[in-house]
Amino acid sequence: MNIALIAHDKKKQDIINFSIAYEHILKDHNLFATGTTGKRIADATGLDVFRFQSGPIGGDQQIGAKIANSEMDIVIFLRDPLTAQPHEPDVSALMRLCDVHLIPLATNIAAAEIVIRALGRGDFSWREVISKQQKEGNNQ
Ligand code: PGA
Repeated sequence: MNIALIAHDKKKQDIINFSIAYEHILKDHNLFATGTTGKRIADATGLDVFRFQSGPIGGDQQIGAKIANSEMDIVIFLRDPLTAQPHEPDVSALMRLCDVHLIPLATNIAAAEIVIRALGRGDFSWREVISKQQKEGNNQ
């Protein structure tokens, strides 16, 4: 499963704590992150994280492109709703694409806990069926 991990600055410690707590689940998946979030997670855990650009300079859009190409299965995006973000249009676009492509999206730690536990239980295996169908469709 391909999982995107993103956190705004005031939520970075939360996503690090989350990654440490659920490393045993995350380690079995392909992890992607925006630049700073990915570096912080990799430094704090033994997890291998592919890093895109930092969010404000295009990382959110790069993850959006993966979603549009059916190459992302889950997005955990710990947003800071109390601080203005210079790249708010990119944030909105990323969330919109999750809705367009029916990608499970958690935007706060409470929802992230539910999503990761569901992942650990195998509740997202339907994503593998969808991905396979989409790949077959793209090859026709
Ligand atoms: P960052 O980007 O991980 O590079 O800080 C996150 C964001 O603000 O979208």
